[in-house]
Amino acid sequence: MSVHDVRLFGDQIAASRLEARFSAVRATSLLRLAIEDLFAGKIALVSSFGADSAVLLHMISQIDARTPVVFVDTGQMFPETLAYRDALVSRFGLADVRSVTPDPGRLSAEDPEAFLWSHDPDRCCDIRKVAPLAAALEGFDAWITGRKRHQAATRAALSLFEAEGDRVKVNPLAGWSASEVIAYLRSHEIPPHPLVAKGFLSIGCLPCTSRVAPGEDPRAGRWRGRGKVECGIHAGTLDAGSDI
Ligand code: SF4
Repeated sequence: MSVHDVRLFGDQIAASRLEARFSAVRATSLLRLAIEDLFAGKIALVSSFGADSAVLLHMISQIDARTPVVFVDTGQMFPETLAYRDALVSRFGLADVRSVTPDPGRLSAEDPEAFLWSHDPDRCCDIRKVAPLAAALEGFDAWITGRKRHQAATRAALSLFEAEGDRVKVNPLAGWSASEVIAYLRSHEIPPHPLVAKGFLSIGCLPCTSRVAPGEDPRAGRWRGRGKVECGIHAGTLDAGSDI
């Protein structure tokens, strides 16, 4: 599989070939390969600066701190998340963190009271997350996510690589367990997100995130009781090509 082949992504077969070739490669090696070789200059990390985000942020800072990082600030984030973002950016020396926000015109027209989440969360996620991310990813051939198989039943079959239109999603931590994340953070003396200690194991927007009980999936606290499990970003709805 050449880089040229990779750039022609748009079919699941190509992603499957990558998966077969790199499934045994360690996360850091895979990340380095993706950033320096496969998609050099054309890949971004999409980070929620949530519960597990520091792992990939730290890894890319060790590979190339200039790697673009896209953070979608929906306007509904926990204050703790914004503070954690600023702390990690400074600590890791990340040089290209792009905090993108929803279109003000759409917000004033469709969610003027910032209450759309309560009665139409799919629409709210589309305006506040999916659309800003799609715009931010224009021009990139690939993006990195921190999704893991253990997080939810809907992610149990997650691959290292996913084809998505003309873009590739790279999931270096797909096979990581919760204990591996904790061990990585401890071994590098990286502070956890402050809400983790309060029982938030997957952290999104404030109105749609709740604590997780022992034994529940880490993502059980997202849109609890709403019958919604993903924001749309990972549901194949990103026209530009789809923790967080
Ligand atoms: S997670 Fe909730 S508040 Fe955030 S964009 Fe989606 S519906 Fe809106």
